[in-house]
Amino acid sequence: MDETGFTRALLGWYDANGRDLPWRRHPEPYAVWVSEIMAQQTQMDRVVEYHTRWMGRFPDIHSLAEAHEEDVLNLWEGLGYYSRARNMRRAAHLIEERFGGDFPSDIEDIRSLPGVGDYTAGAVASIAFNQREPAVDANVLRVFARLLDMDIPVRDRAGRNMIEDAVRRIIPADRPGDFNQAIMEFGALVCRKNPLCETCPVREYCRALEAGTVPLRPVLPVSRQPIRIDMATGFLVHEGCVLIQKRKLTDVWPGLWEFPGGCVEPGETSEQALRREYLEEVELAVEPVEKITVVRYSYTRYRVTMDCFLCRYAGDPTEPVFNEAVRGGFVRPAELSGYALPSGHRKLVDHMLADMRFSHLFTD
Ligand code: SF4
Repeated sequence: MDETGFTRALLGWYDANGRDLPWRRHPEPYAVWVSEIMAQQTQMDRVVEYHTRWMGRFPDIHSLAEAHEEDVLNLWEGLGYYSRARNMRRAAHLIEERFGGDFPSDIEDIRSLPGVGDYTAGAVASIAFNQREPAVDANVLRVFARLLDMDIPVRDRAGRNMIEDAVRRIIPADRPGDFNQAIMEFGALVCRKNPLCETCPVREYCRALEAGTVPLRPVLPVSRQPIRIDMATGFLVHEGCVLIQKRKLTDVWPGLWEFPGGCVEPGETSEQALRREYLEEVELAVEPVEKITVVRYSYTRYRVTMDCFLCRYAGDPTEPVFNEAVRGGFVRPAELSGYALPSGHRKLVDHMLADMRFSHLFTD
């Protein structure tokens, strides 16, 4: 490959087509880091929305380090993978302690921060500090698998190493951050899953196009089958309030709030599972009154179908005992916007707000 010609063509395309993102205008280390953590697993238009809100609320390392975890999680709600938000707060503390509040510029120091891997460290080092470090994400893997016509799985260590070496060789000294962003942007907009080869600005450098192997690249590992789970949850209303509980730090979705419920066991109906889960989790006898909706959501390999019920006490009201949670209690439904909920439970609340059968529960 004529590496200089390729780099020039790619950067020329990026200068004309790169998206105008807030952190690109002023690539301060903190803003770049926040954007890169948010962009993991999230579409760019949503990242812009969340990034703008985040920078308004936590404009620097110090304000993030000082923030309550609950406030950080609330602001993060909707992005999923909450460990990212927790790690950012921990990282802010570490930056205050170890680096006097200044974002570190050394790549090893950046990589030592909680939640920062090779990709994020390379992205921050190159974009915010102009260092010739590769930042290899899924877009970059796909683009280079095609440019180099690689016939090995690019997500395996060997494939990834080859691509990191290739990027390291050609990344220009004067615009390393722009080069990394250009490759990612190019992967998102042109060399997509279904690539736009006809109008590709670097088609003359693409070995897969020349060999007719574009549809075969990248070679992916055999994918693992998703696991399907049935769940039931209950919205227990008593004296105008609903019962919620805060998950333990050792659980999936640690520290988030939820309505009690759990997996439907083999041979159980959703209603039976709900009654059992309420007894086990909060020692309350409840009766499902009405099915609210069925919520579907995914996390990692799991595909969850959750039956959601409006509930009431089955007998005289008693105090809940939180066996599976840190704490909990009854809150007014209108206050639920102030609690960080897992996506499935937030979908339930959104559905109730839009459903006239239940929306009255949310008025004070
Ligand atoms: Fe990607 Fe097609 Fe361009 Fe090759 S020619 S880099 S496959 S868009």
